[in-house]
Amino acid sequence: MSTTSSLDLQSFYPADLKILDVEETDDEIIIRMHSVSNNCTCHKCGAPLIKHHGSHHRKAQDLPILGKRVTLDMQIFDYNCSSDKCSGRFAATETFDGFLNYNSRMTERLEDFICLLAIETSCEASARIMNAMRVKVSGDTVIRLLVKRYKNQSPTVCGSTVGVDDFAFKKRHTYGTIIVDEKTHTPVAVLEGRDGKTLKEWLRQNQHVTAVTRDRASAYAKAVEEVLPDCMQIADRFHIHQNLMEAVNKVLGREIPATNAIPKDGESIEKETENQELSTSKEDGGKKNRIYCG
Ligand SMILES: [Zn+2]
Repeated sequence: MSTTSSLDLQSFYPADLKILDVEETDDEIIIRMHSVSNNCTCHKCGAPLIKHHGSHHRKAQDLPILGKRVTLDMQIFDYNCSSDKCSGRFAATETFDGFLNYNSRMTERLEDFICLLAIETSCEASARIMNAMRVKVSGDTVIRLLVKRYKNQSPTVCGSTVGVDDFAFKKRHTYGTIIVDEKTHTPVAVLEGRDGKTLKEWLRQNQHVTAVTRDRASAYAKAVEEVLPDCMQIADRFHIHQNLMEAVNKVLGREIPATNAIPKDGESIEKETENQELSTSKEDGGKKNRIYCG
């Protein structure tokens, strides 16, 4: 087995991106590269492009190297797309399939890692871990990456029983609706808003649904009632438990006084006990006394 004392950095990048030089600072490695390709694919219509239109600088983050942020500073080409779909005049920027998307500020392998981390932990935790590894990313960006991945997935066919609930993209600002297949326990759709409008659209395209478990929000109830009137609506276990706890809380609040006096000394306790015995005796009509005397 042969060993070497250095790594060939170029072998970690597409052959069409040639490394010009590498600059290293205390916390960052900047890799300057330029494109040597002579064709690419239009990201809008998929047509093959061969005519250069110009070039521009583009920066993107890559996976960190030994705790240092890696920035790719690239000189890449622009192309003219003359296909009918792009109306014959669309300036397409160069993409590198599987490595860098046309509008991304990160390489795909970095996005893959961030999304994996977010799924295993959470969006905010993922952002914090990546920041510790010198990658600049916020929790909101991680959410956007996950949503983008979700939108690019092929539509998932779900079973006839689904669960519907809301969640926050950004608490107190923007909310969404998630639909989960109750048999496979896998998410099948993430919709914008929680007012029921997007749920109605989704239900119209999934008329085979016969049962929906949901929270207590009237928006979801109305949406299901309107689009699928024969569909069974079921309150899920979490919300039934929540209902029960609220009811118990209300009863306790009504029946138990806000303050209960605690006797200060033994005399008070004795007095209290006497009063209780007297009260019990009156209630049972002096039955206890009669048994004692007899
Ligand atoms: Zn095109």
